[in-house]
Amino acid sequence: MVSERVKQIGASPTLRIAAKAKAMKAEGIDVVDLSIGEPDFPTPENVKSAGIQAIRDNFTKYTENDGTPALKKAVIARFKEEFGVSYAPAEVIVSSGAKSSLFHLFQAIVDAGNEVIIPAPYWVTYPHVVKLAKGKAVYVETREEDGFVLTAEALKAHITPATKAVILNSPSNPTGAAYTREQLQALADVVRGEDIYVVADEIYAALVYDEFKFTSFAALGEDIKKKTILINGPSKSYSMTGWRIGYALGPADIIAGMAKIQSHTTSNAASISQKAAQEALNGPQFEVSRMVQEFQRRRNYGLIKLQAMPRISCLKPQGAFYLFPNVKAYYGLEFNGTPIRNSNGLAYYLLREANVAIVPGDSFGADDYIRLSYATSMENLEKGLDRIGRALAALQPARKAKRVALSNYAARARAAVPVDAALTVPVRDGLAAEIERHLTPENYFEWNAVVNGVVVQLRTNVAHLHDFWVDNWYPAQLEAGLEPHGIIHAVDGIPGREPRALYNSETKTGFLINCDAYGPLRSLALGLVADVGERSFGVHPVRGMSVDAGGQGLVLIGPPGTNKTGLFFGLLRDPRFRFHASDILFVRYAGKAALADAVERKVFLPTRTVEDFGRLAPLFDGSKCENVVLRKDDCKDAECLRQEDCRLDRGAPFCYKAAKEAHALLDPNWIAGPDAVVRRTTLRHLILLRNDAFSPALAELSAEEALRILVSGEVPGMKKAAGAKTHPFFNPHLLTLSEDRLELHKAHFQRLLQSAKAWLFNSGTAGVDKIREITGSK
Ligand code: PMP
Repeated sequence: MVSERVKQIGASPTLRIAAKAKAMKAEGIDVVDLSIGEPDFPTPENVKSAGIQAIRDNFTKYTENDGTPALKKAVIARFKEEFGVSYAPAEVIVSSGAKSSLFHLFQAIVDAGNEVIIPAPYWVTYPHVVKLAKGKAVYVETREEDGFVLTAEALKAHITPATKAVILNSPSNPTGAAYTREQLQALADVVRGEDIYVVADEIYAALVYDEFKFTSFAALGEDIKKKTILINGPSKSYSMTGWRIGYALGPADIIAGMAKIQSHTTSNAASISQKAAQEALNGPQFEVSRMVQEFQRRRNYGLIKLQAMPRISCLKPQGAFYLFPNVKAYYGLEFNGTPIRNSNGLAYYLLREANVAIVPGDSFGADDYIRLSYATSMENLEKGLDRIGRALAALQPARKAKRVALSNYAARARAAVPVDAALTVPVRDGLAAEIERHLTPENYFEWNAVVNGVVVQLRTNVAHLHDFWVDNWYPAQLEAGLEPHGIIHAVDGIPGREPRALYNSETKTGFLINCDAYGPLRSLALGLVADVGERSFGVHPVRGMSVDAGGQGLVLIGPPGTNKTGLFFGLLRDPRFRFHASDILFVRYAGKAALADAVERKVFLPTRTVEDFGRLAPLFDGSKCENVVLRKDDCKDAECLRQEDCRLDRGAPFCYKAAKEAHALLDPNWIAGPDAVVRRTTLRHLILLRNDAFSPALAELSAEEALRILVSGEVPGMKKAAGAKTHPFFNPHLLTLSEDRLELHKAHFQRLLQSAKAWLFNSGTAGVDKIREITGSK
C-alpha cells in the first residue's frame, strides 16, 4: 500500500488526458489533442546533431552532479545576454527538466509547515511539489479582469511569518499572462521588506508575442536577485521536452542544497542531453523566432475563433502557448439529459462527444475555465476549435433542474474507535462531570430517539452527529418528565483524550469522546438498545441483512468476505423480495413466531455499496453523507479500476467508492419505492454465509450447529482475513458480553432457532438463485 502522503497526490492531469486521447486514437477515433504542453516542432537539427555527436564521442558517462561546466557556462552566457543577469557557476544547477529543478528546490528550502504562496490559476505541479516537501500551499486568486496577474496588495495580504516563498510563473501556464516590468517591480517592493524567496518560473520567457518585453525577476536589482531562484530550461523554447533538461539559478547555498538532493535522485541530467542543450543555447537562435512567429499566428487565430463563440471570454495571452477561455456560461446546460456541471464535466463532454482533448480549469485551480494548447498544428487547431464551437452550440438548457442535495460532512475521526464497555460507576460519574463542562449552551444539541421501544437520549456538541441522529431514528416524545432508558454523551474537543467509546451498563450511559464520525455513535446506540432490550423486554438484536418474501423473513449473517452485501442487493433485484434491514434487526416473540423489526428510519450504508448496486449512486446524491470524496486529489483508491473513466472526471460532484470511510444515510424507500420496504417480518430463515471453493452450496444446519457457529463468530472453513476481529454472533455492536449477558443472548438465539431454519450457504460456489430456492420463490 502506498503512503498516505502519496495517496494525496493526484497524477498530472495533462498526462492523464494525453494518455486517454492516445488510447482513443489507438481505437481509431479521430481525436484532436489540444491538451498537450509541448511544441509540435522538431528539435532543431543542430541540437539533434550535437546529441548524436555526444554519443559518437562516448560522452555517455556520469557528468558533474550539478551539470557540465560547459553547459553551465552556456546557461550563464545566455541569461546574461537575454535577461541582463549575471551568475557564477556555483549559482547554477542543471537537472533533468525544470520539473526536477522545482522538486529539488522545494525539498531544499521548505521545512514542514512552511507556507508557499501560489497565485491561482497555477500550473498543476506547483501544489504537489510544495506538499511533497511537507509545505503548505497558500493559494491567492488572480482575476481575468486584472489580467490574471498577482497584485502587490494581494501578495502582501497573504504573507505570514510561516511564508517561505512565492511562486511567480511568467509567462503563465495556463493563462498566458506575462508580467510587465512595472508589475514585477511592485511585487519586488513587497518582497524587499519580507524574508521570503521568489521562485520565478520563466520557462516560457522566450515565447512572448506582440513585441512584449520580457523581464526576468532577478533583473530587478542585486537585492532582489539574492531572494530569487530562477527556473528555466530548453524544453519549450527549443522544443526539447523529451531531452529532459532544466536549470535553476539562485543563491549558492540553495543551489548547493539542491545539488546534494539531486546527487541522491538523478545524479545528473543525461550527458547526451546536456551536450544538446549546450548547442541549443550557444548555437543560432533563429529557430526560436520562427516558432514564436508561428505561435503568435495560432494564438491570434484561436483567440478570434473563441471570441466569436457566444458567452465565452478569453484573456489575450502575452506568452506561452495556451488559451484559457472562461466557459462558465455553459455550466448548467445539458446534452442528452446529462448536465455539464463544471470544467471536468465539460472536458469529458468535449472528449466523448466532440473528440477534442482539452484540460479542465479545475486542474489549475480555476473551475470556470478550460485550457487549450496551440502548440499543435494549425490544422489541428482549426479542427479542434470548430468541433468545440459546434459542441458548445449543441448544449441545451436543462429541461428539469435536477438539484443535487447531497450534504457531505468530512469527519476528522476516520480510524476505528476503541470501545471500553466495562466502565465503572465512579469513573462514569467523573467522566460525565468532565464532559458536561464542554457542553456550552450555544453549542449543545439534545434529542430523544426511540429505538425498538428503548428511548435513547443524545447529548452532543457536534452538529453533524445531531443531524445524522435525528435523521436516522424515530423520534420519542420530548415531554418533560420523560426519562430516557439510556443517555449517550458524544462530546468533541476534550483536551488530552484519545477518540474512544465507553459504556456503563448499570446506568445505561454511553460516552463518545473526541469522535465526530457517526458510525461509532450509531454502534454505541445499538449496543445500548440491545443491552436494555435484551434484559428488560426480551428483545434481542440479530446482526445481518434481511429481506422479506411474502411475510417470510430471511436474514444473511456472516463475517466480512462472504459477499453478504452482494447477495442482499442481488435478492433485492427480484421484486418479490422486499427490503427489511441492512445491518441490524431486533427480534421479539409472539408465541412461536419470531417478529423481526427494522428499527432505523434510514439506512447507514458504506457508499462503496455502489460496487454491488450501481443504482445507489443517484440515491446517495440526495442523501446525507459522511466522508464522500469530492475532489480527485482526495481520492485514496489507488487500485481504482475506473481511473480512466472516473466519475469525478466526468463532472460528477462526488465519488462514492474512493474512500472506505464514506457512508450515506439513505432513505430505504428510495431504493424501490415504499411498497418494496417492510418494517416487520417473521424470521423464517437464518442463512450463515461462508466463502470457499469446495464446500457444498447449501446445507441445512441443526439448531445446535447453528448456535455453535453463531457463538463463535466463525464459519467453518473460512480463513480469517489478516487483522480481522472475531465478533460473537457476527455482531460488532454488542457492547457488553459478560457471562450472564452471553447466556441471555444465547438463550434468545436458541428460541429463534426453534422457529427459524438455519442454513450454511457457500457464496464461493453459489449465487442468489440458490437462496431463492430456500424461500420457494425461484
Ligand atoms: N514550468 C511550467 C510553467 C511548465 O509549464 C512546465 C512544463 N509543462 C515546466 C515548468 C516543466 O518543464 P520541463 O520539466 O519539461 O523542463
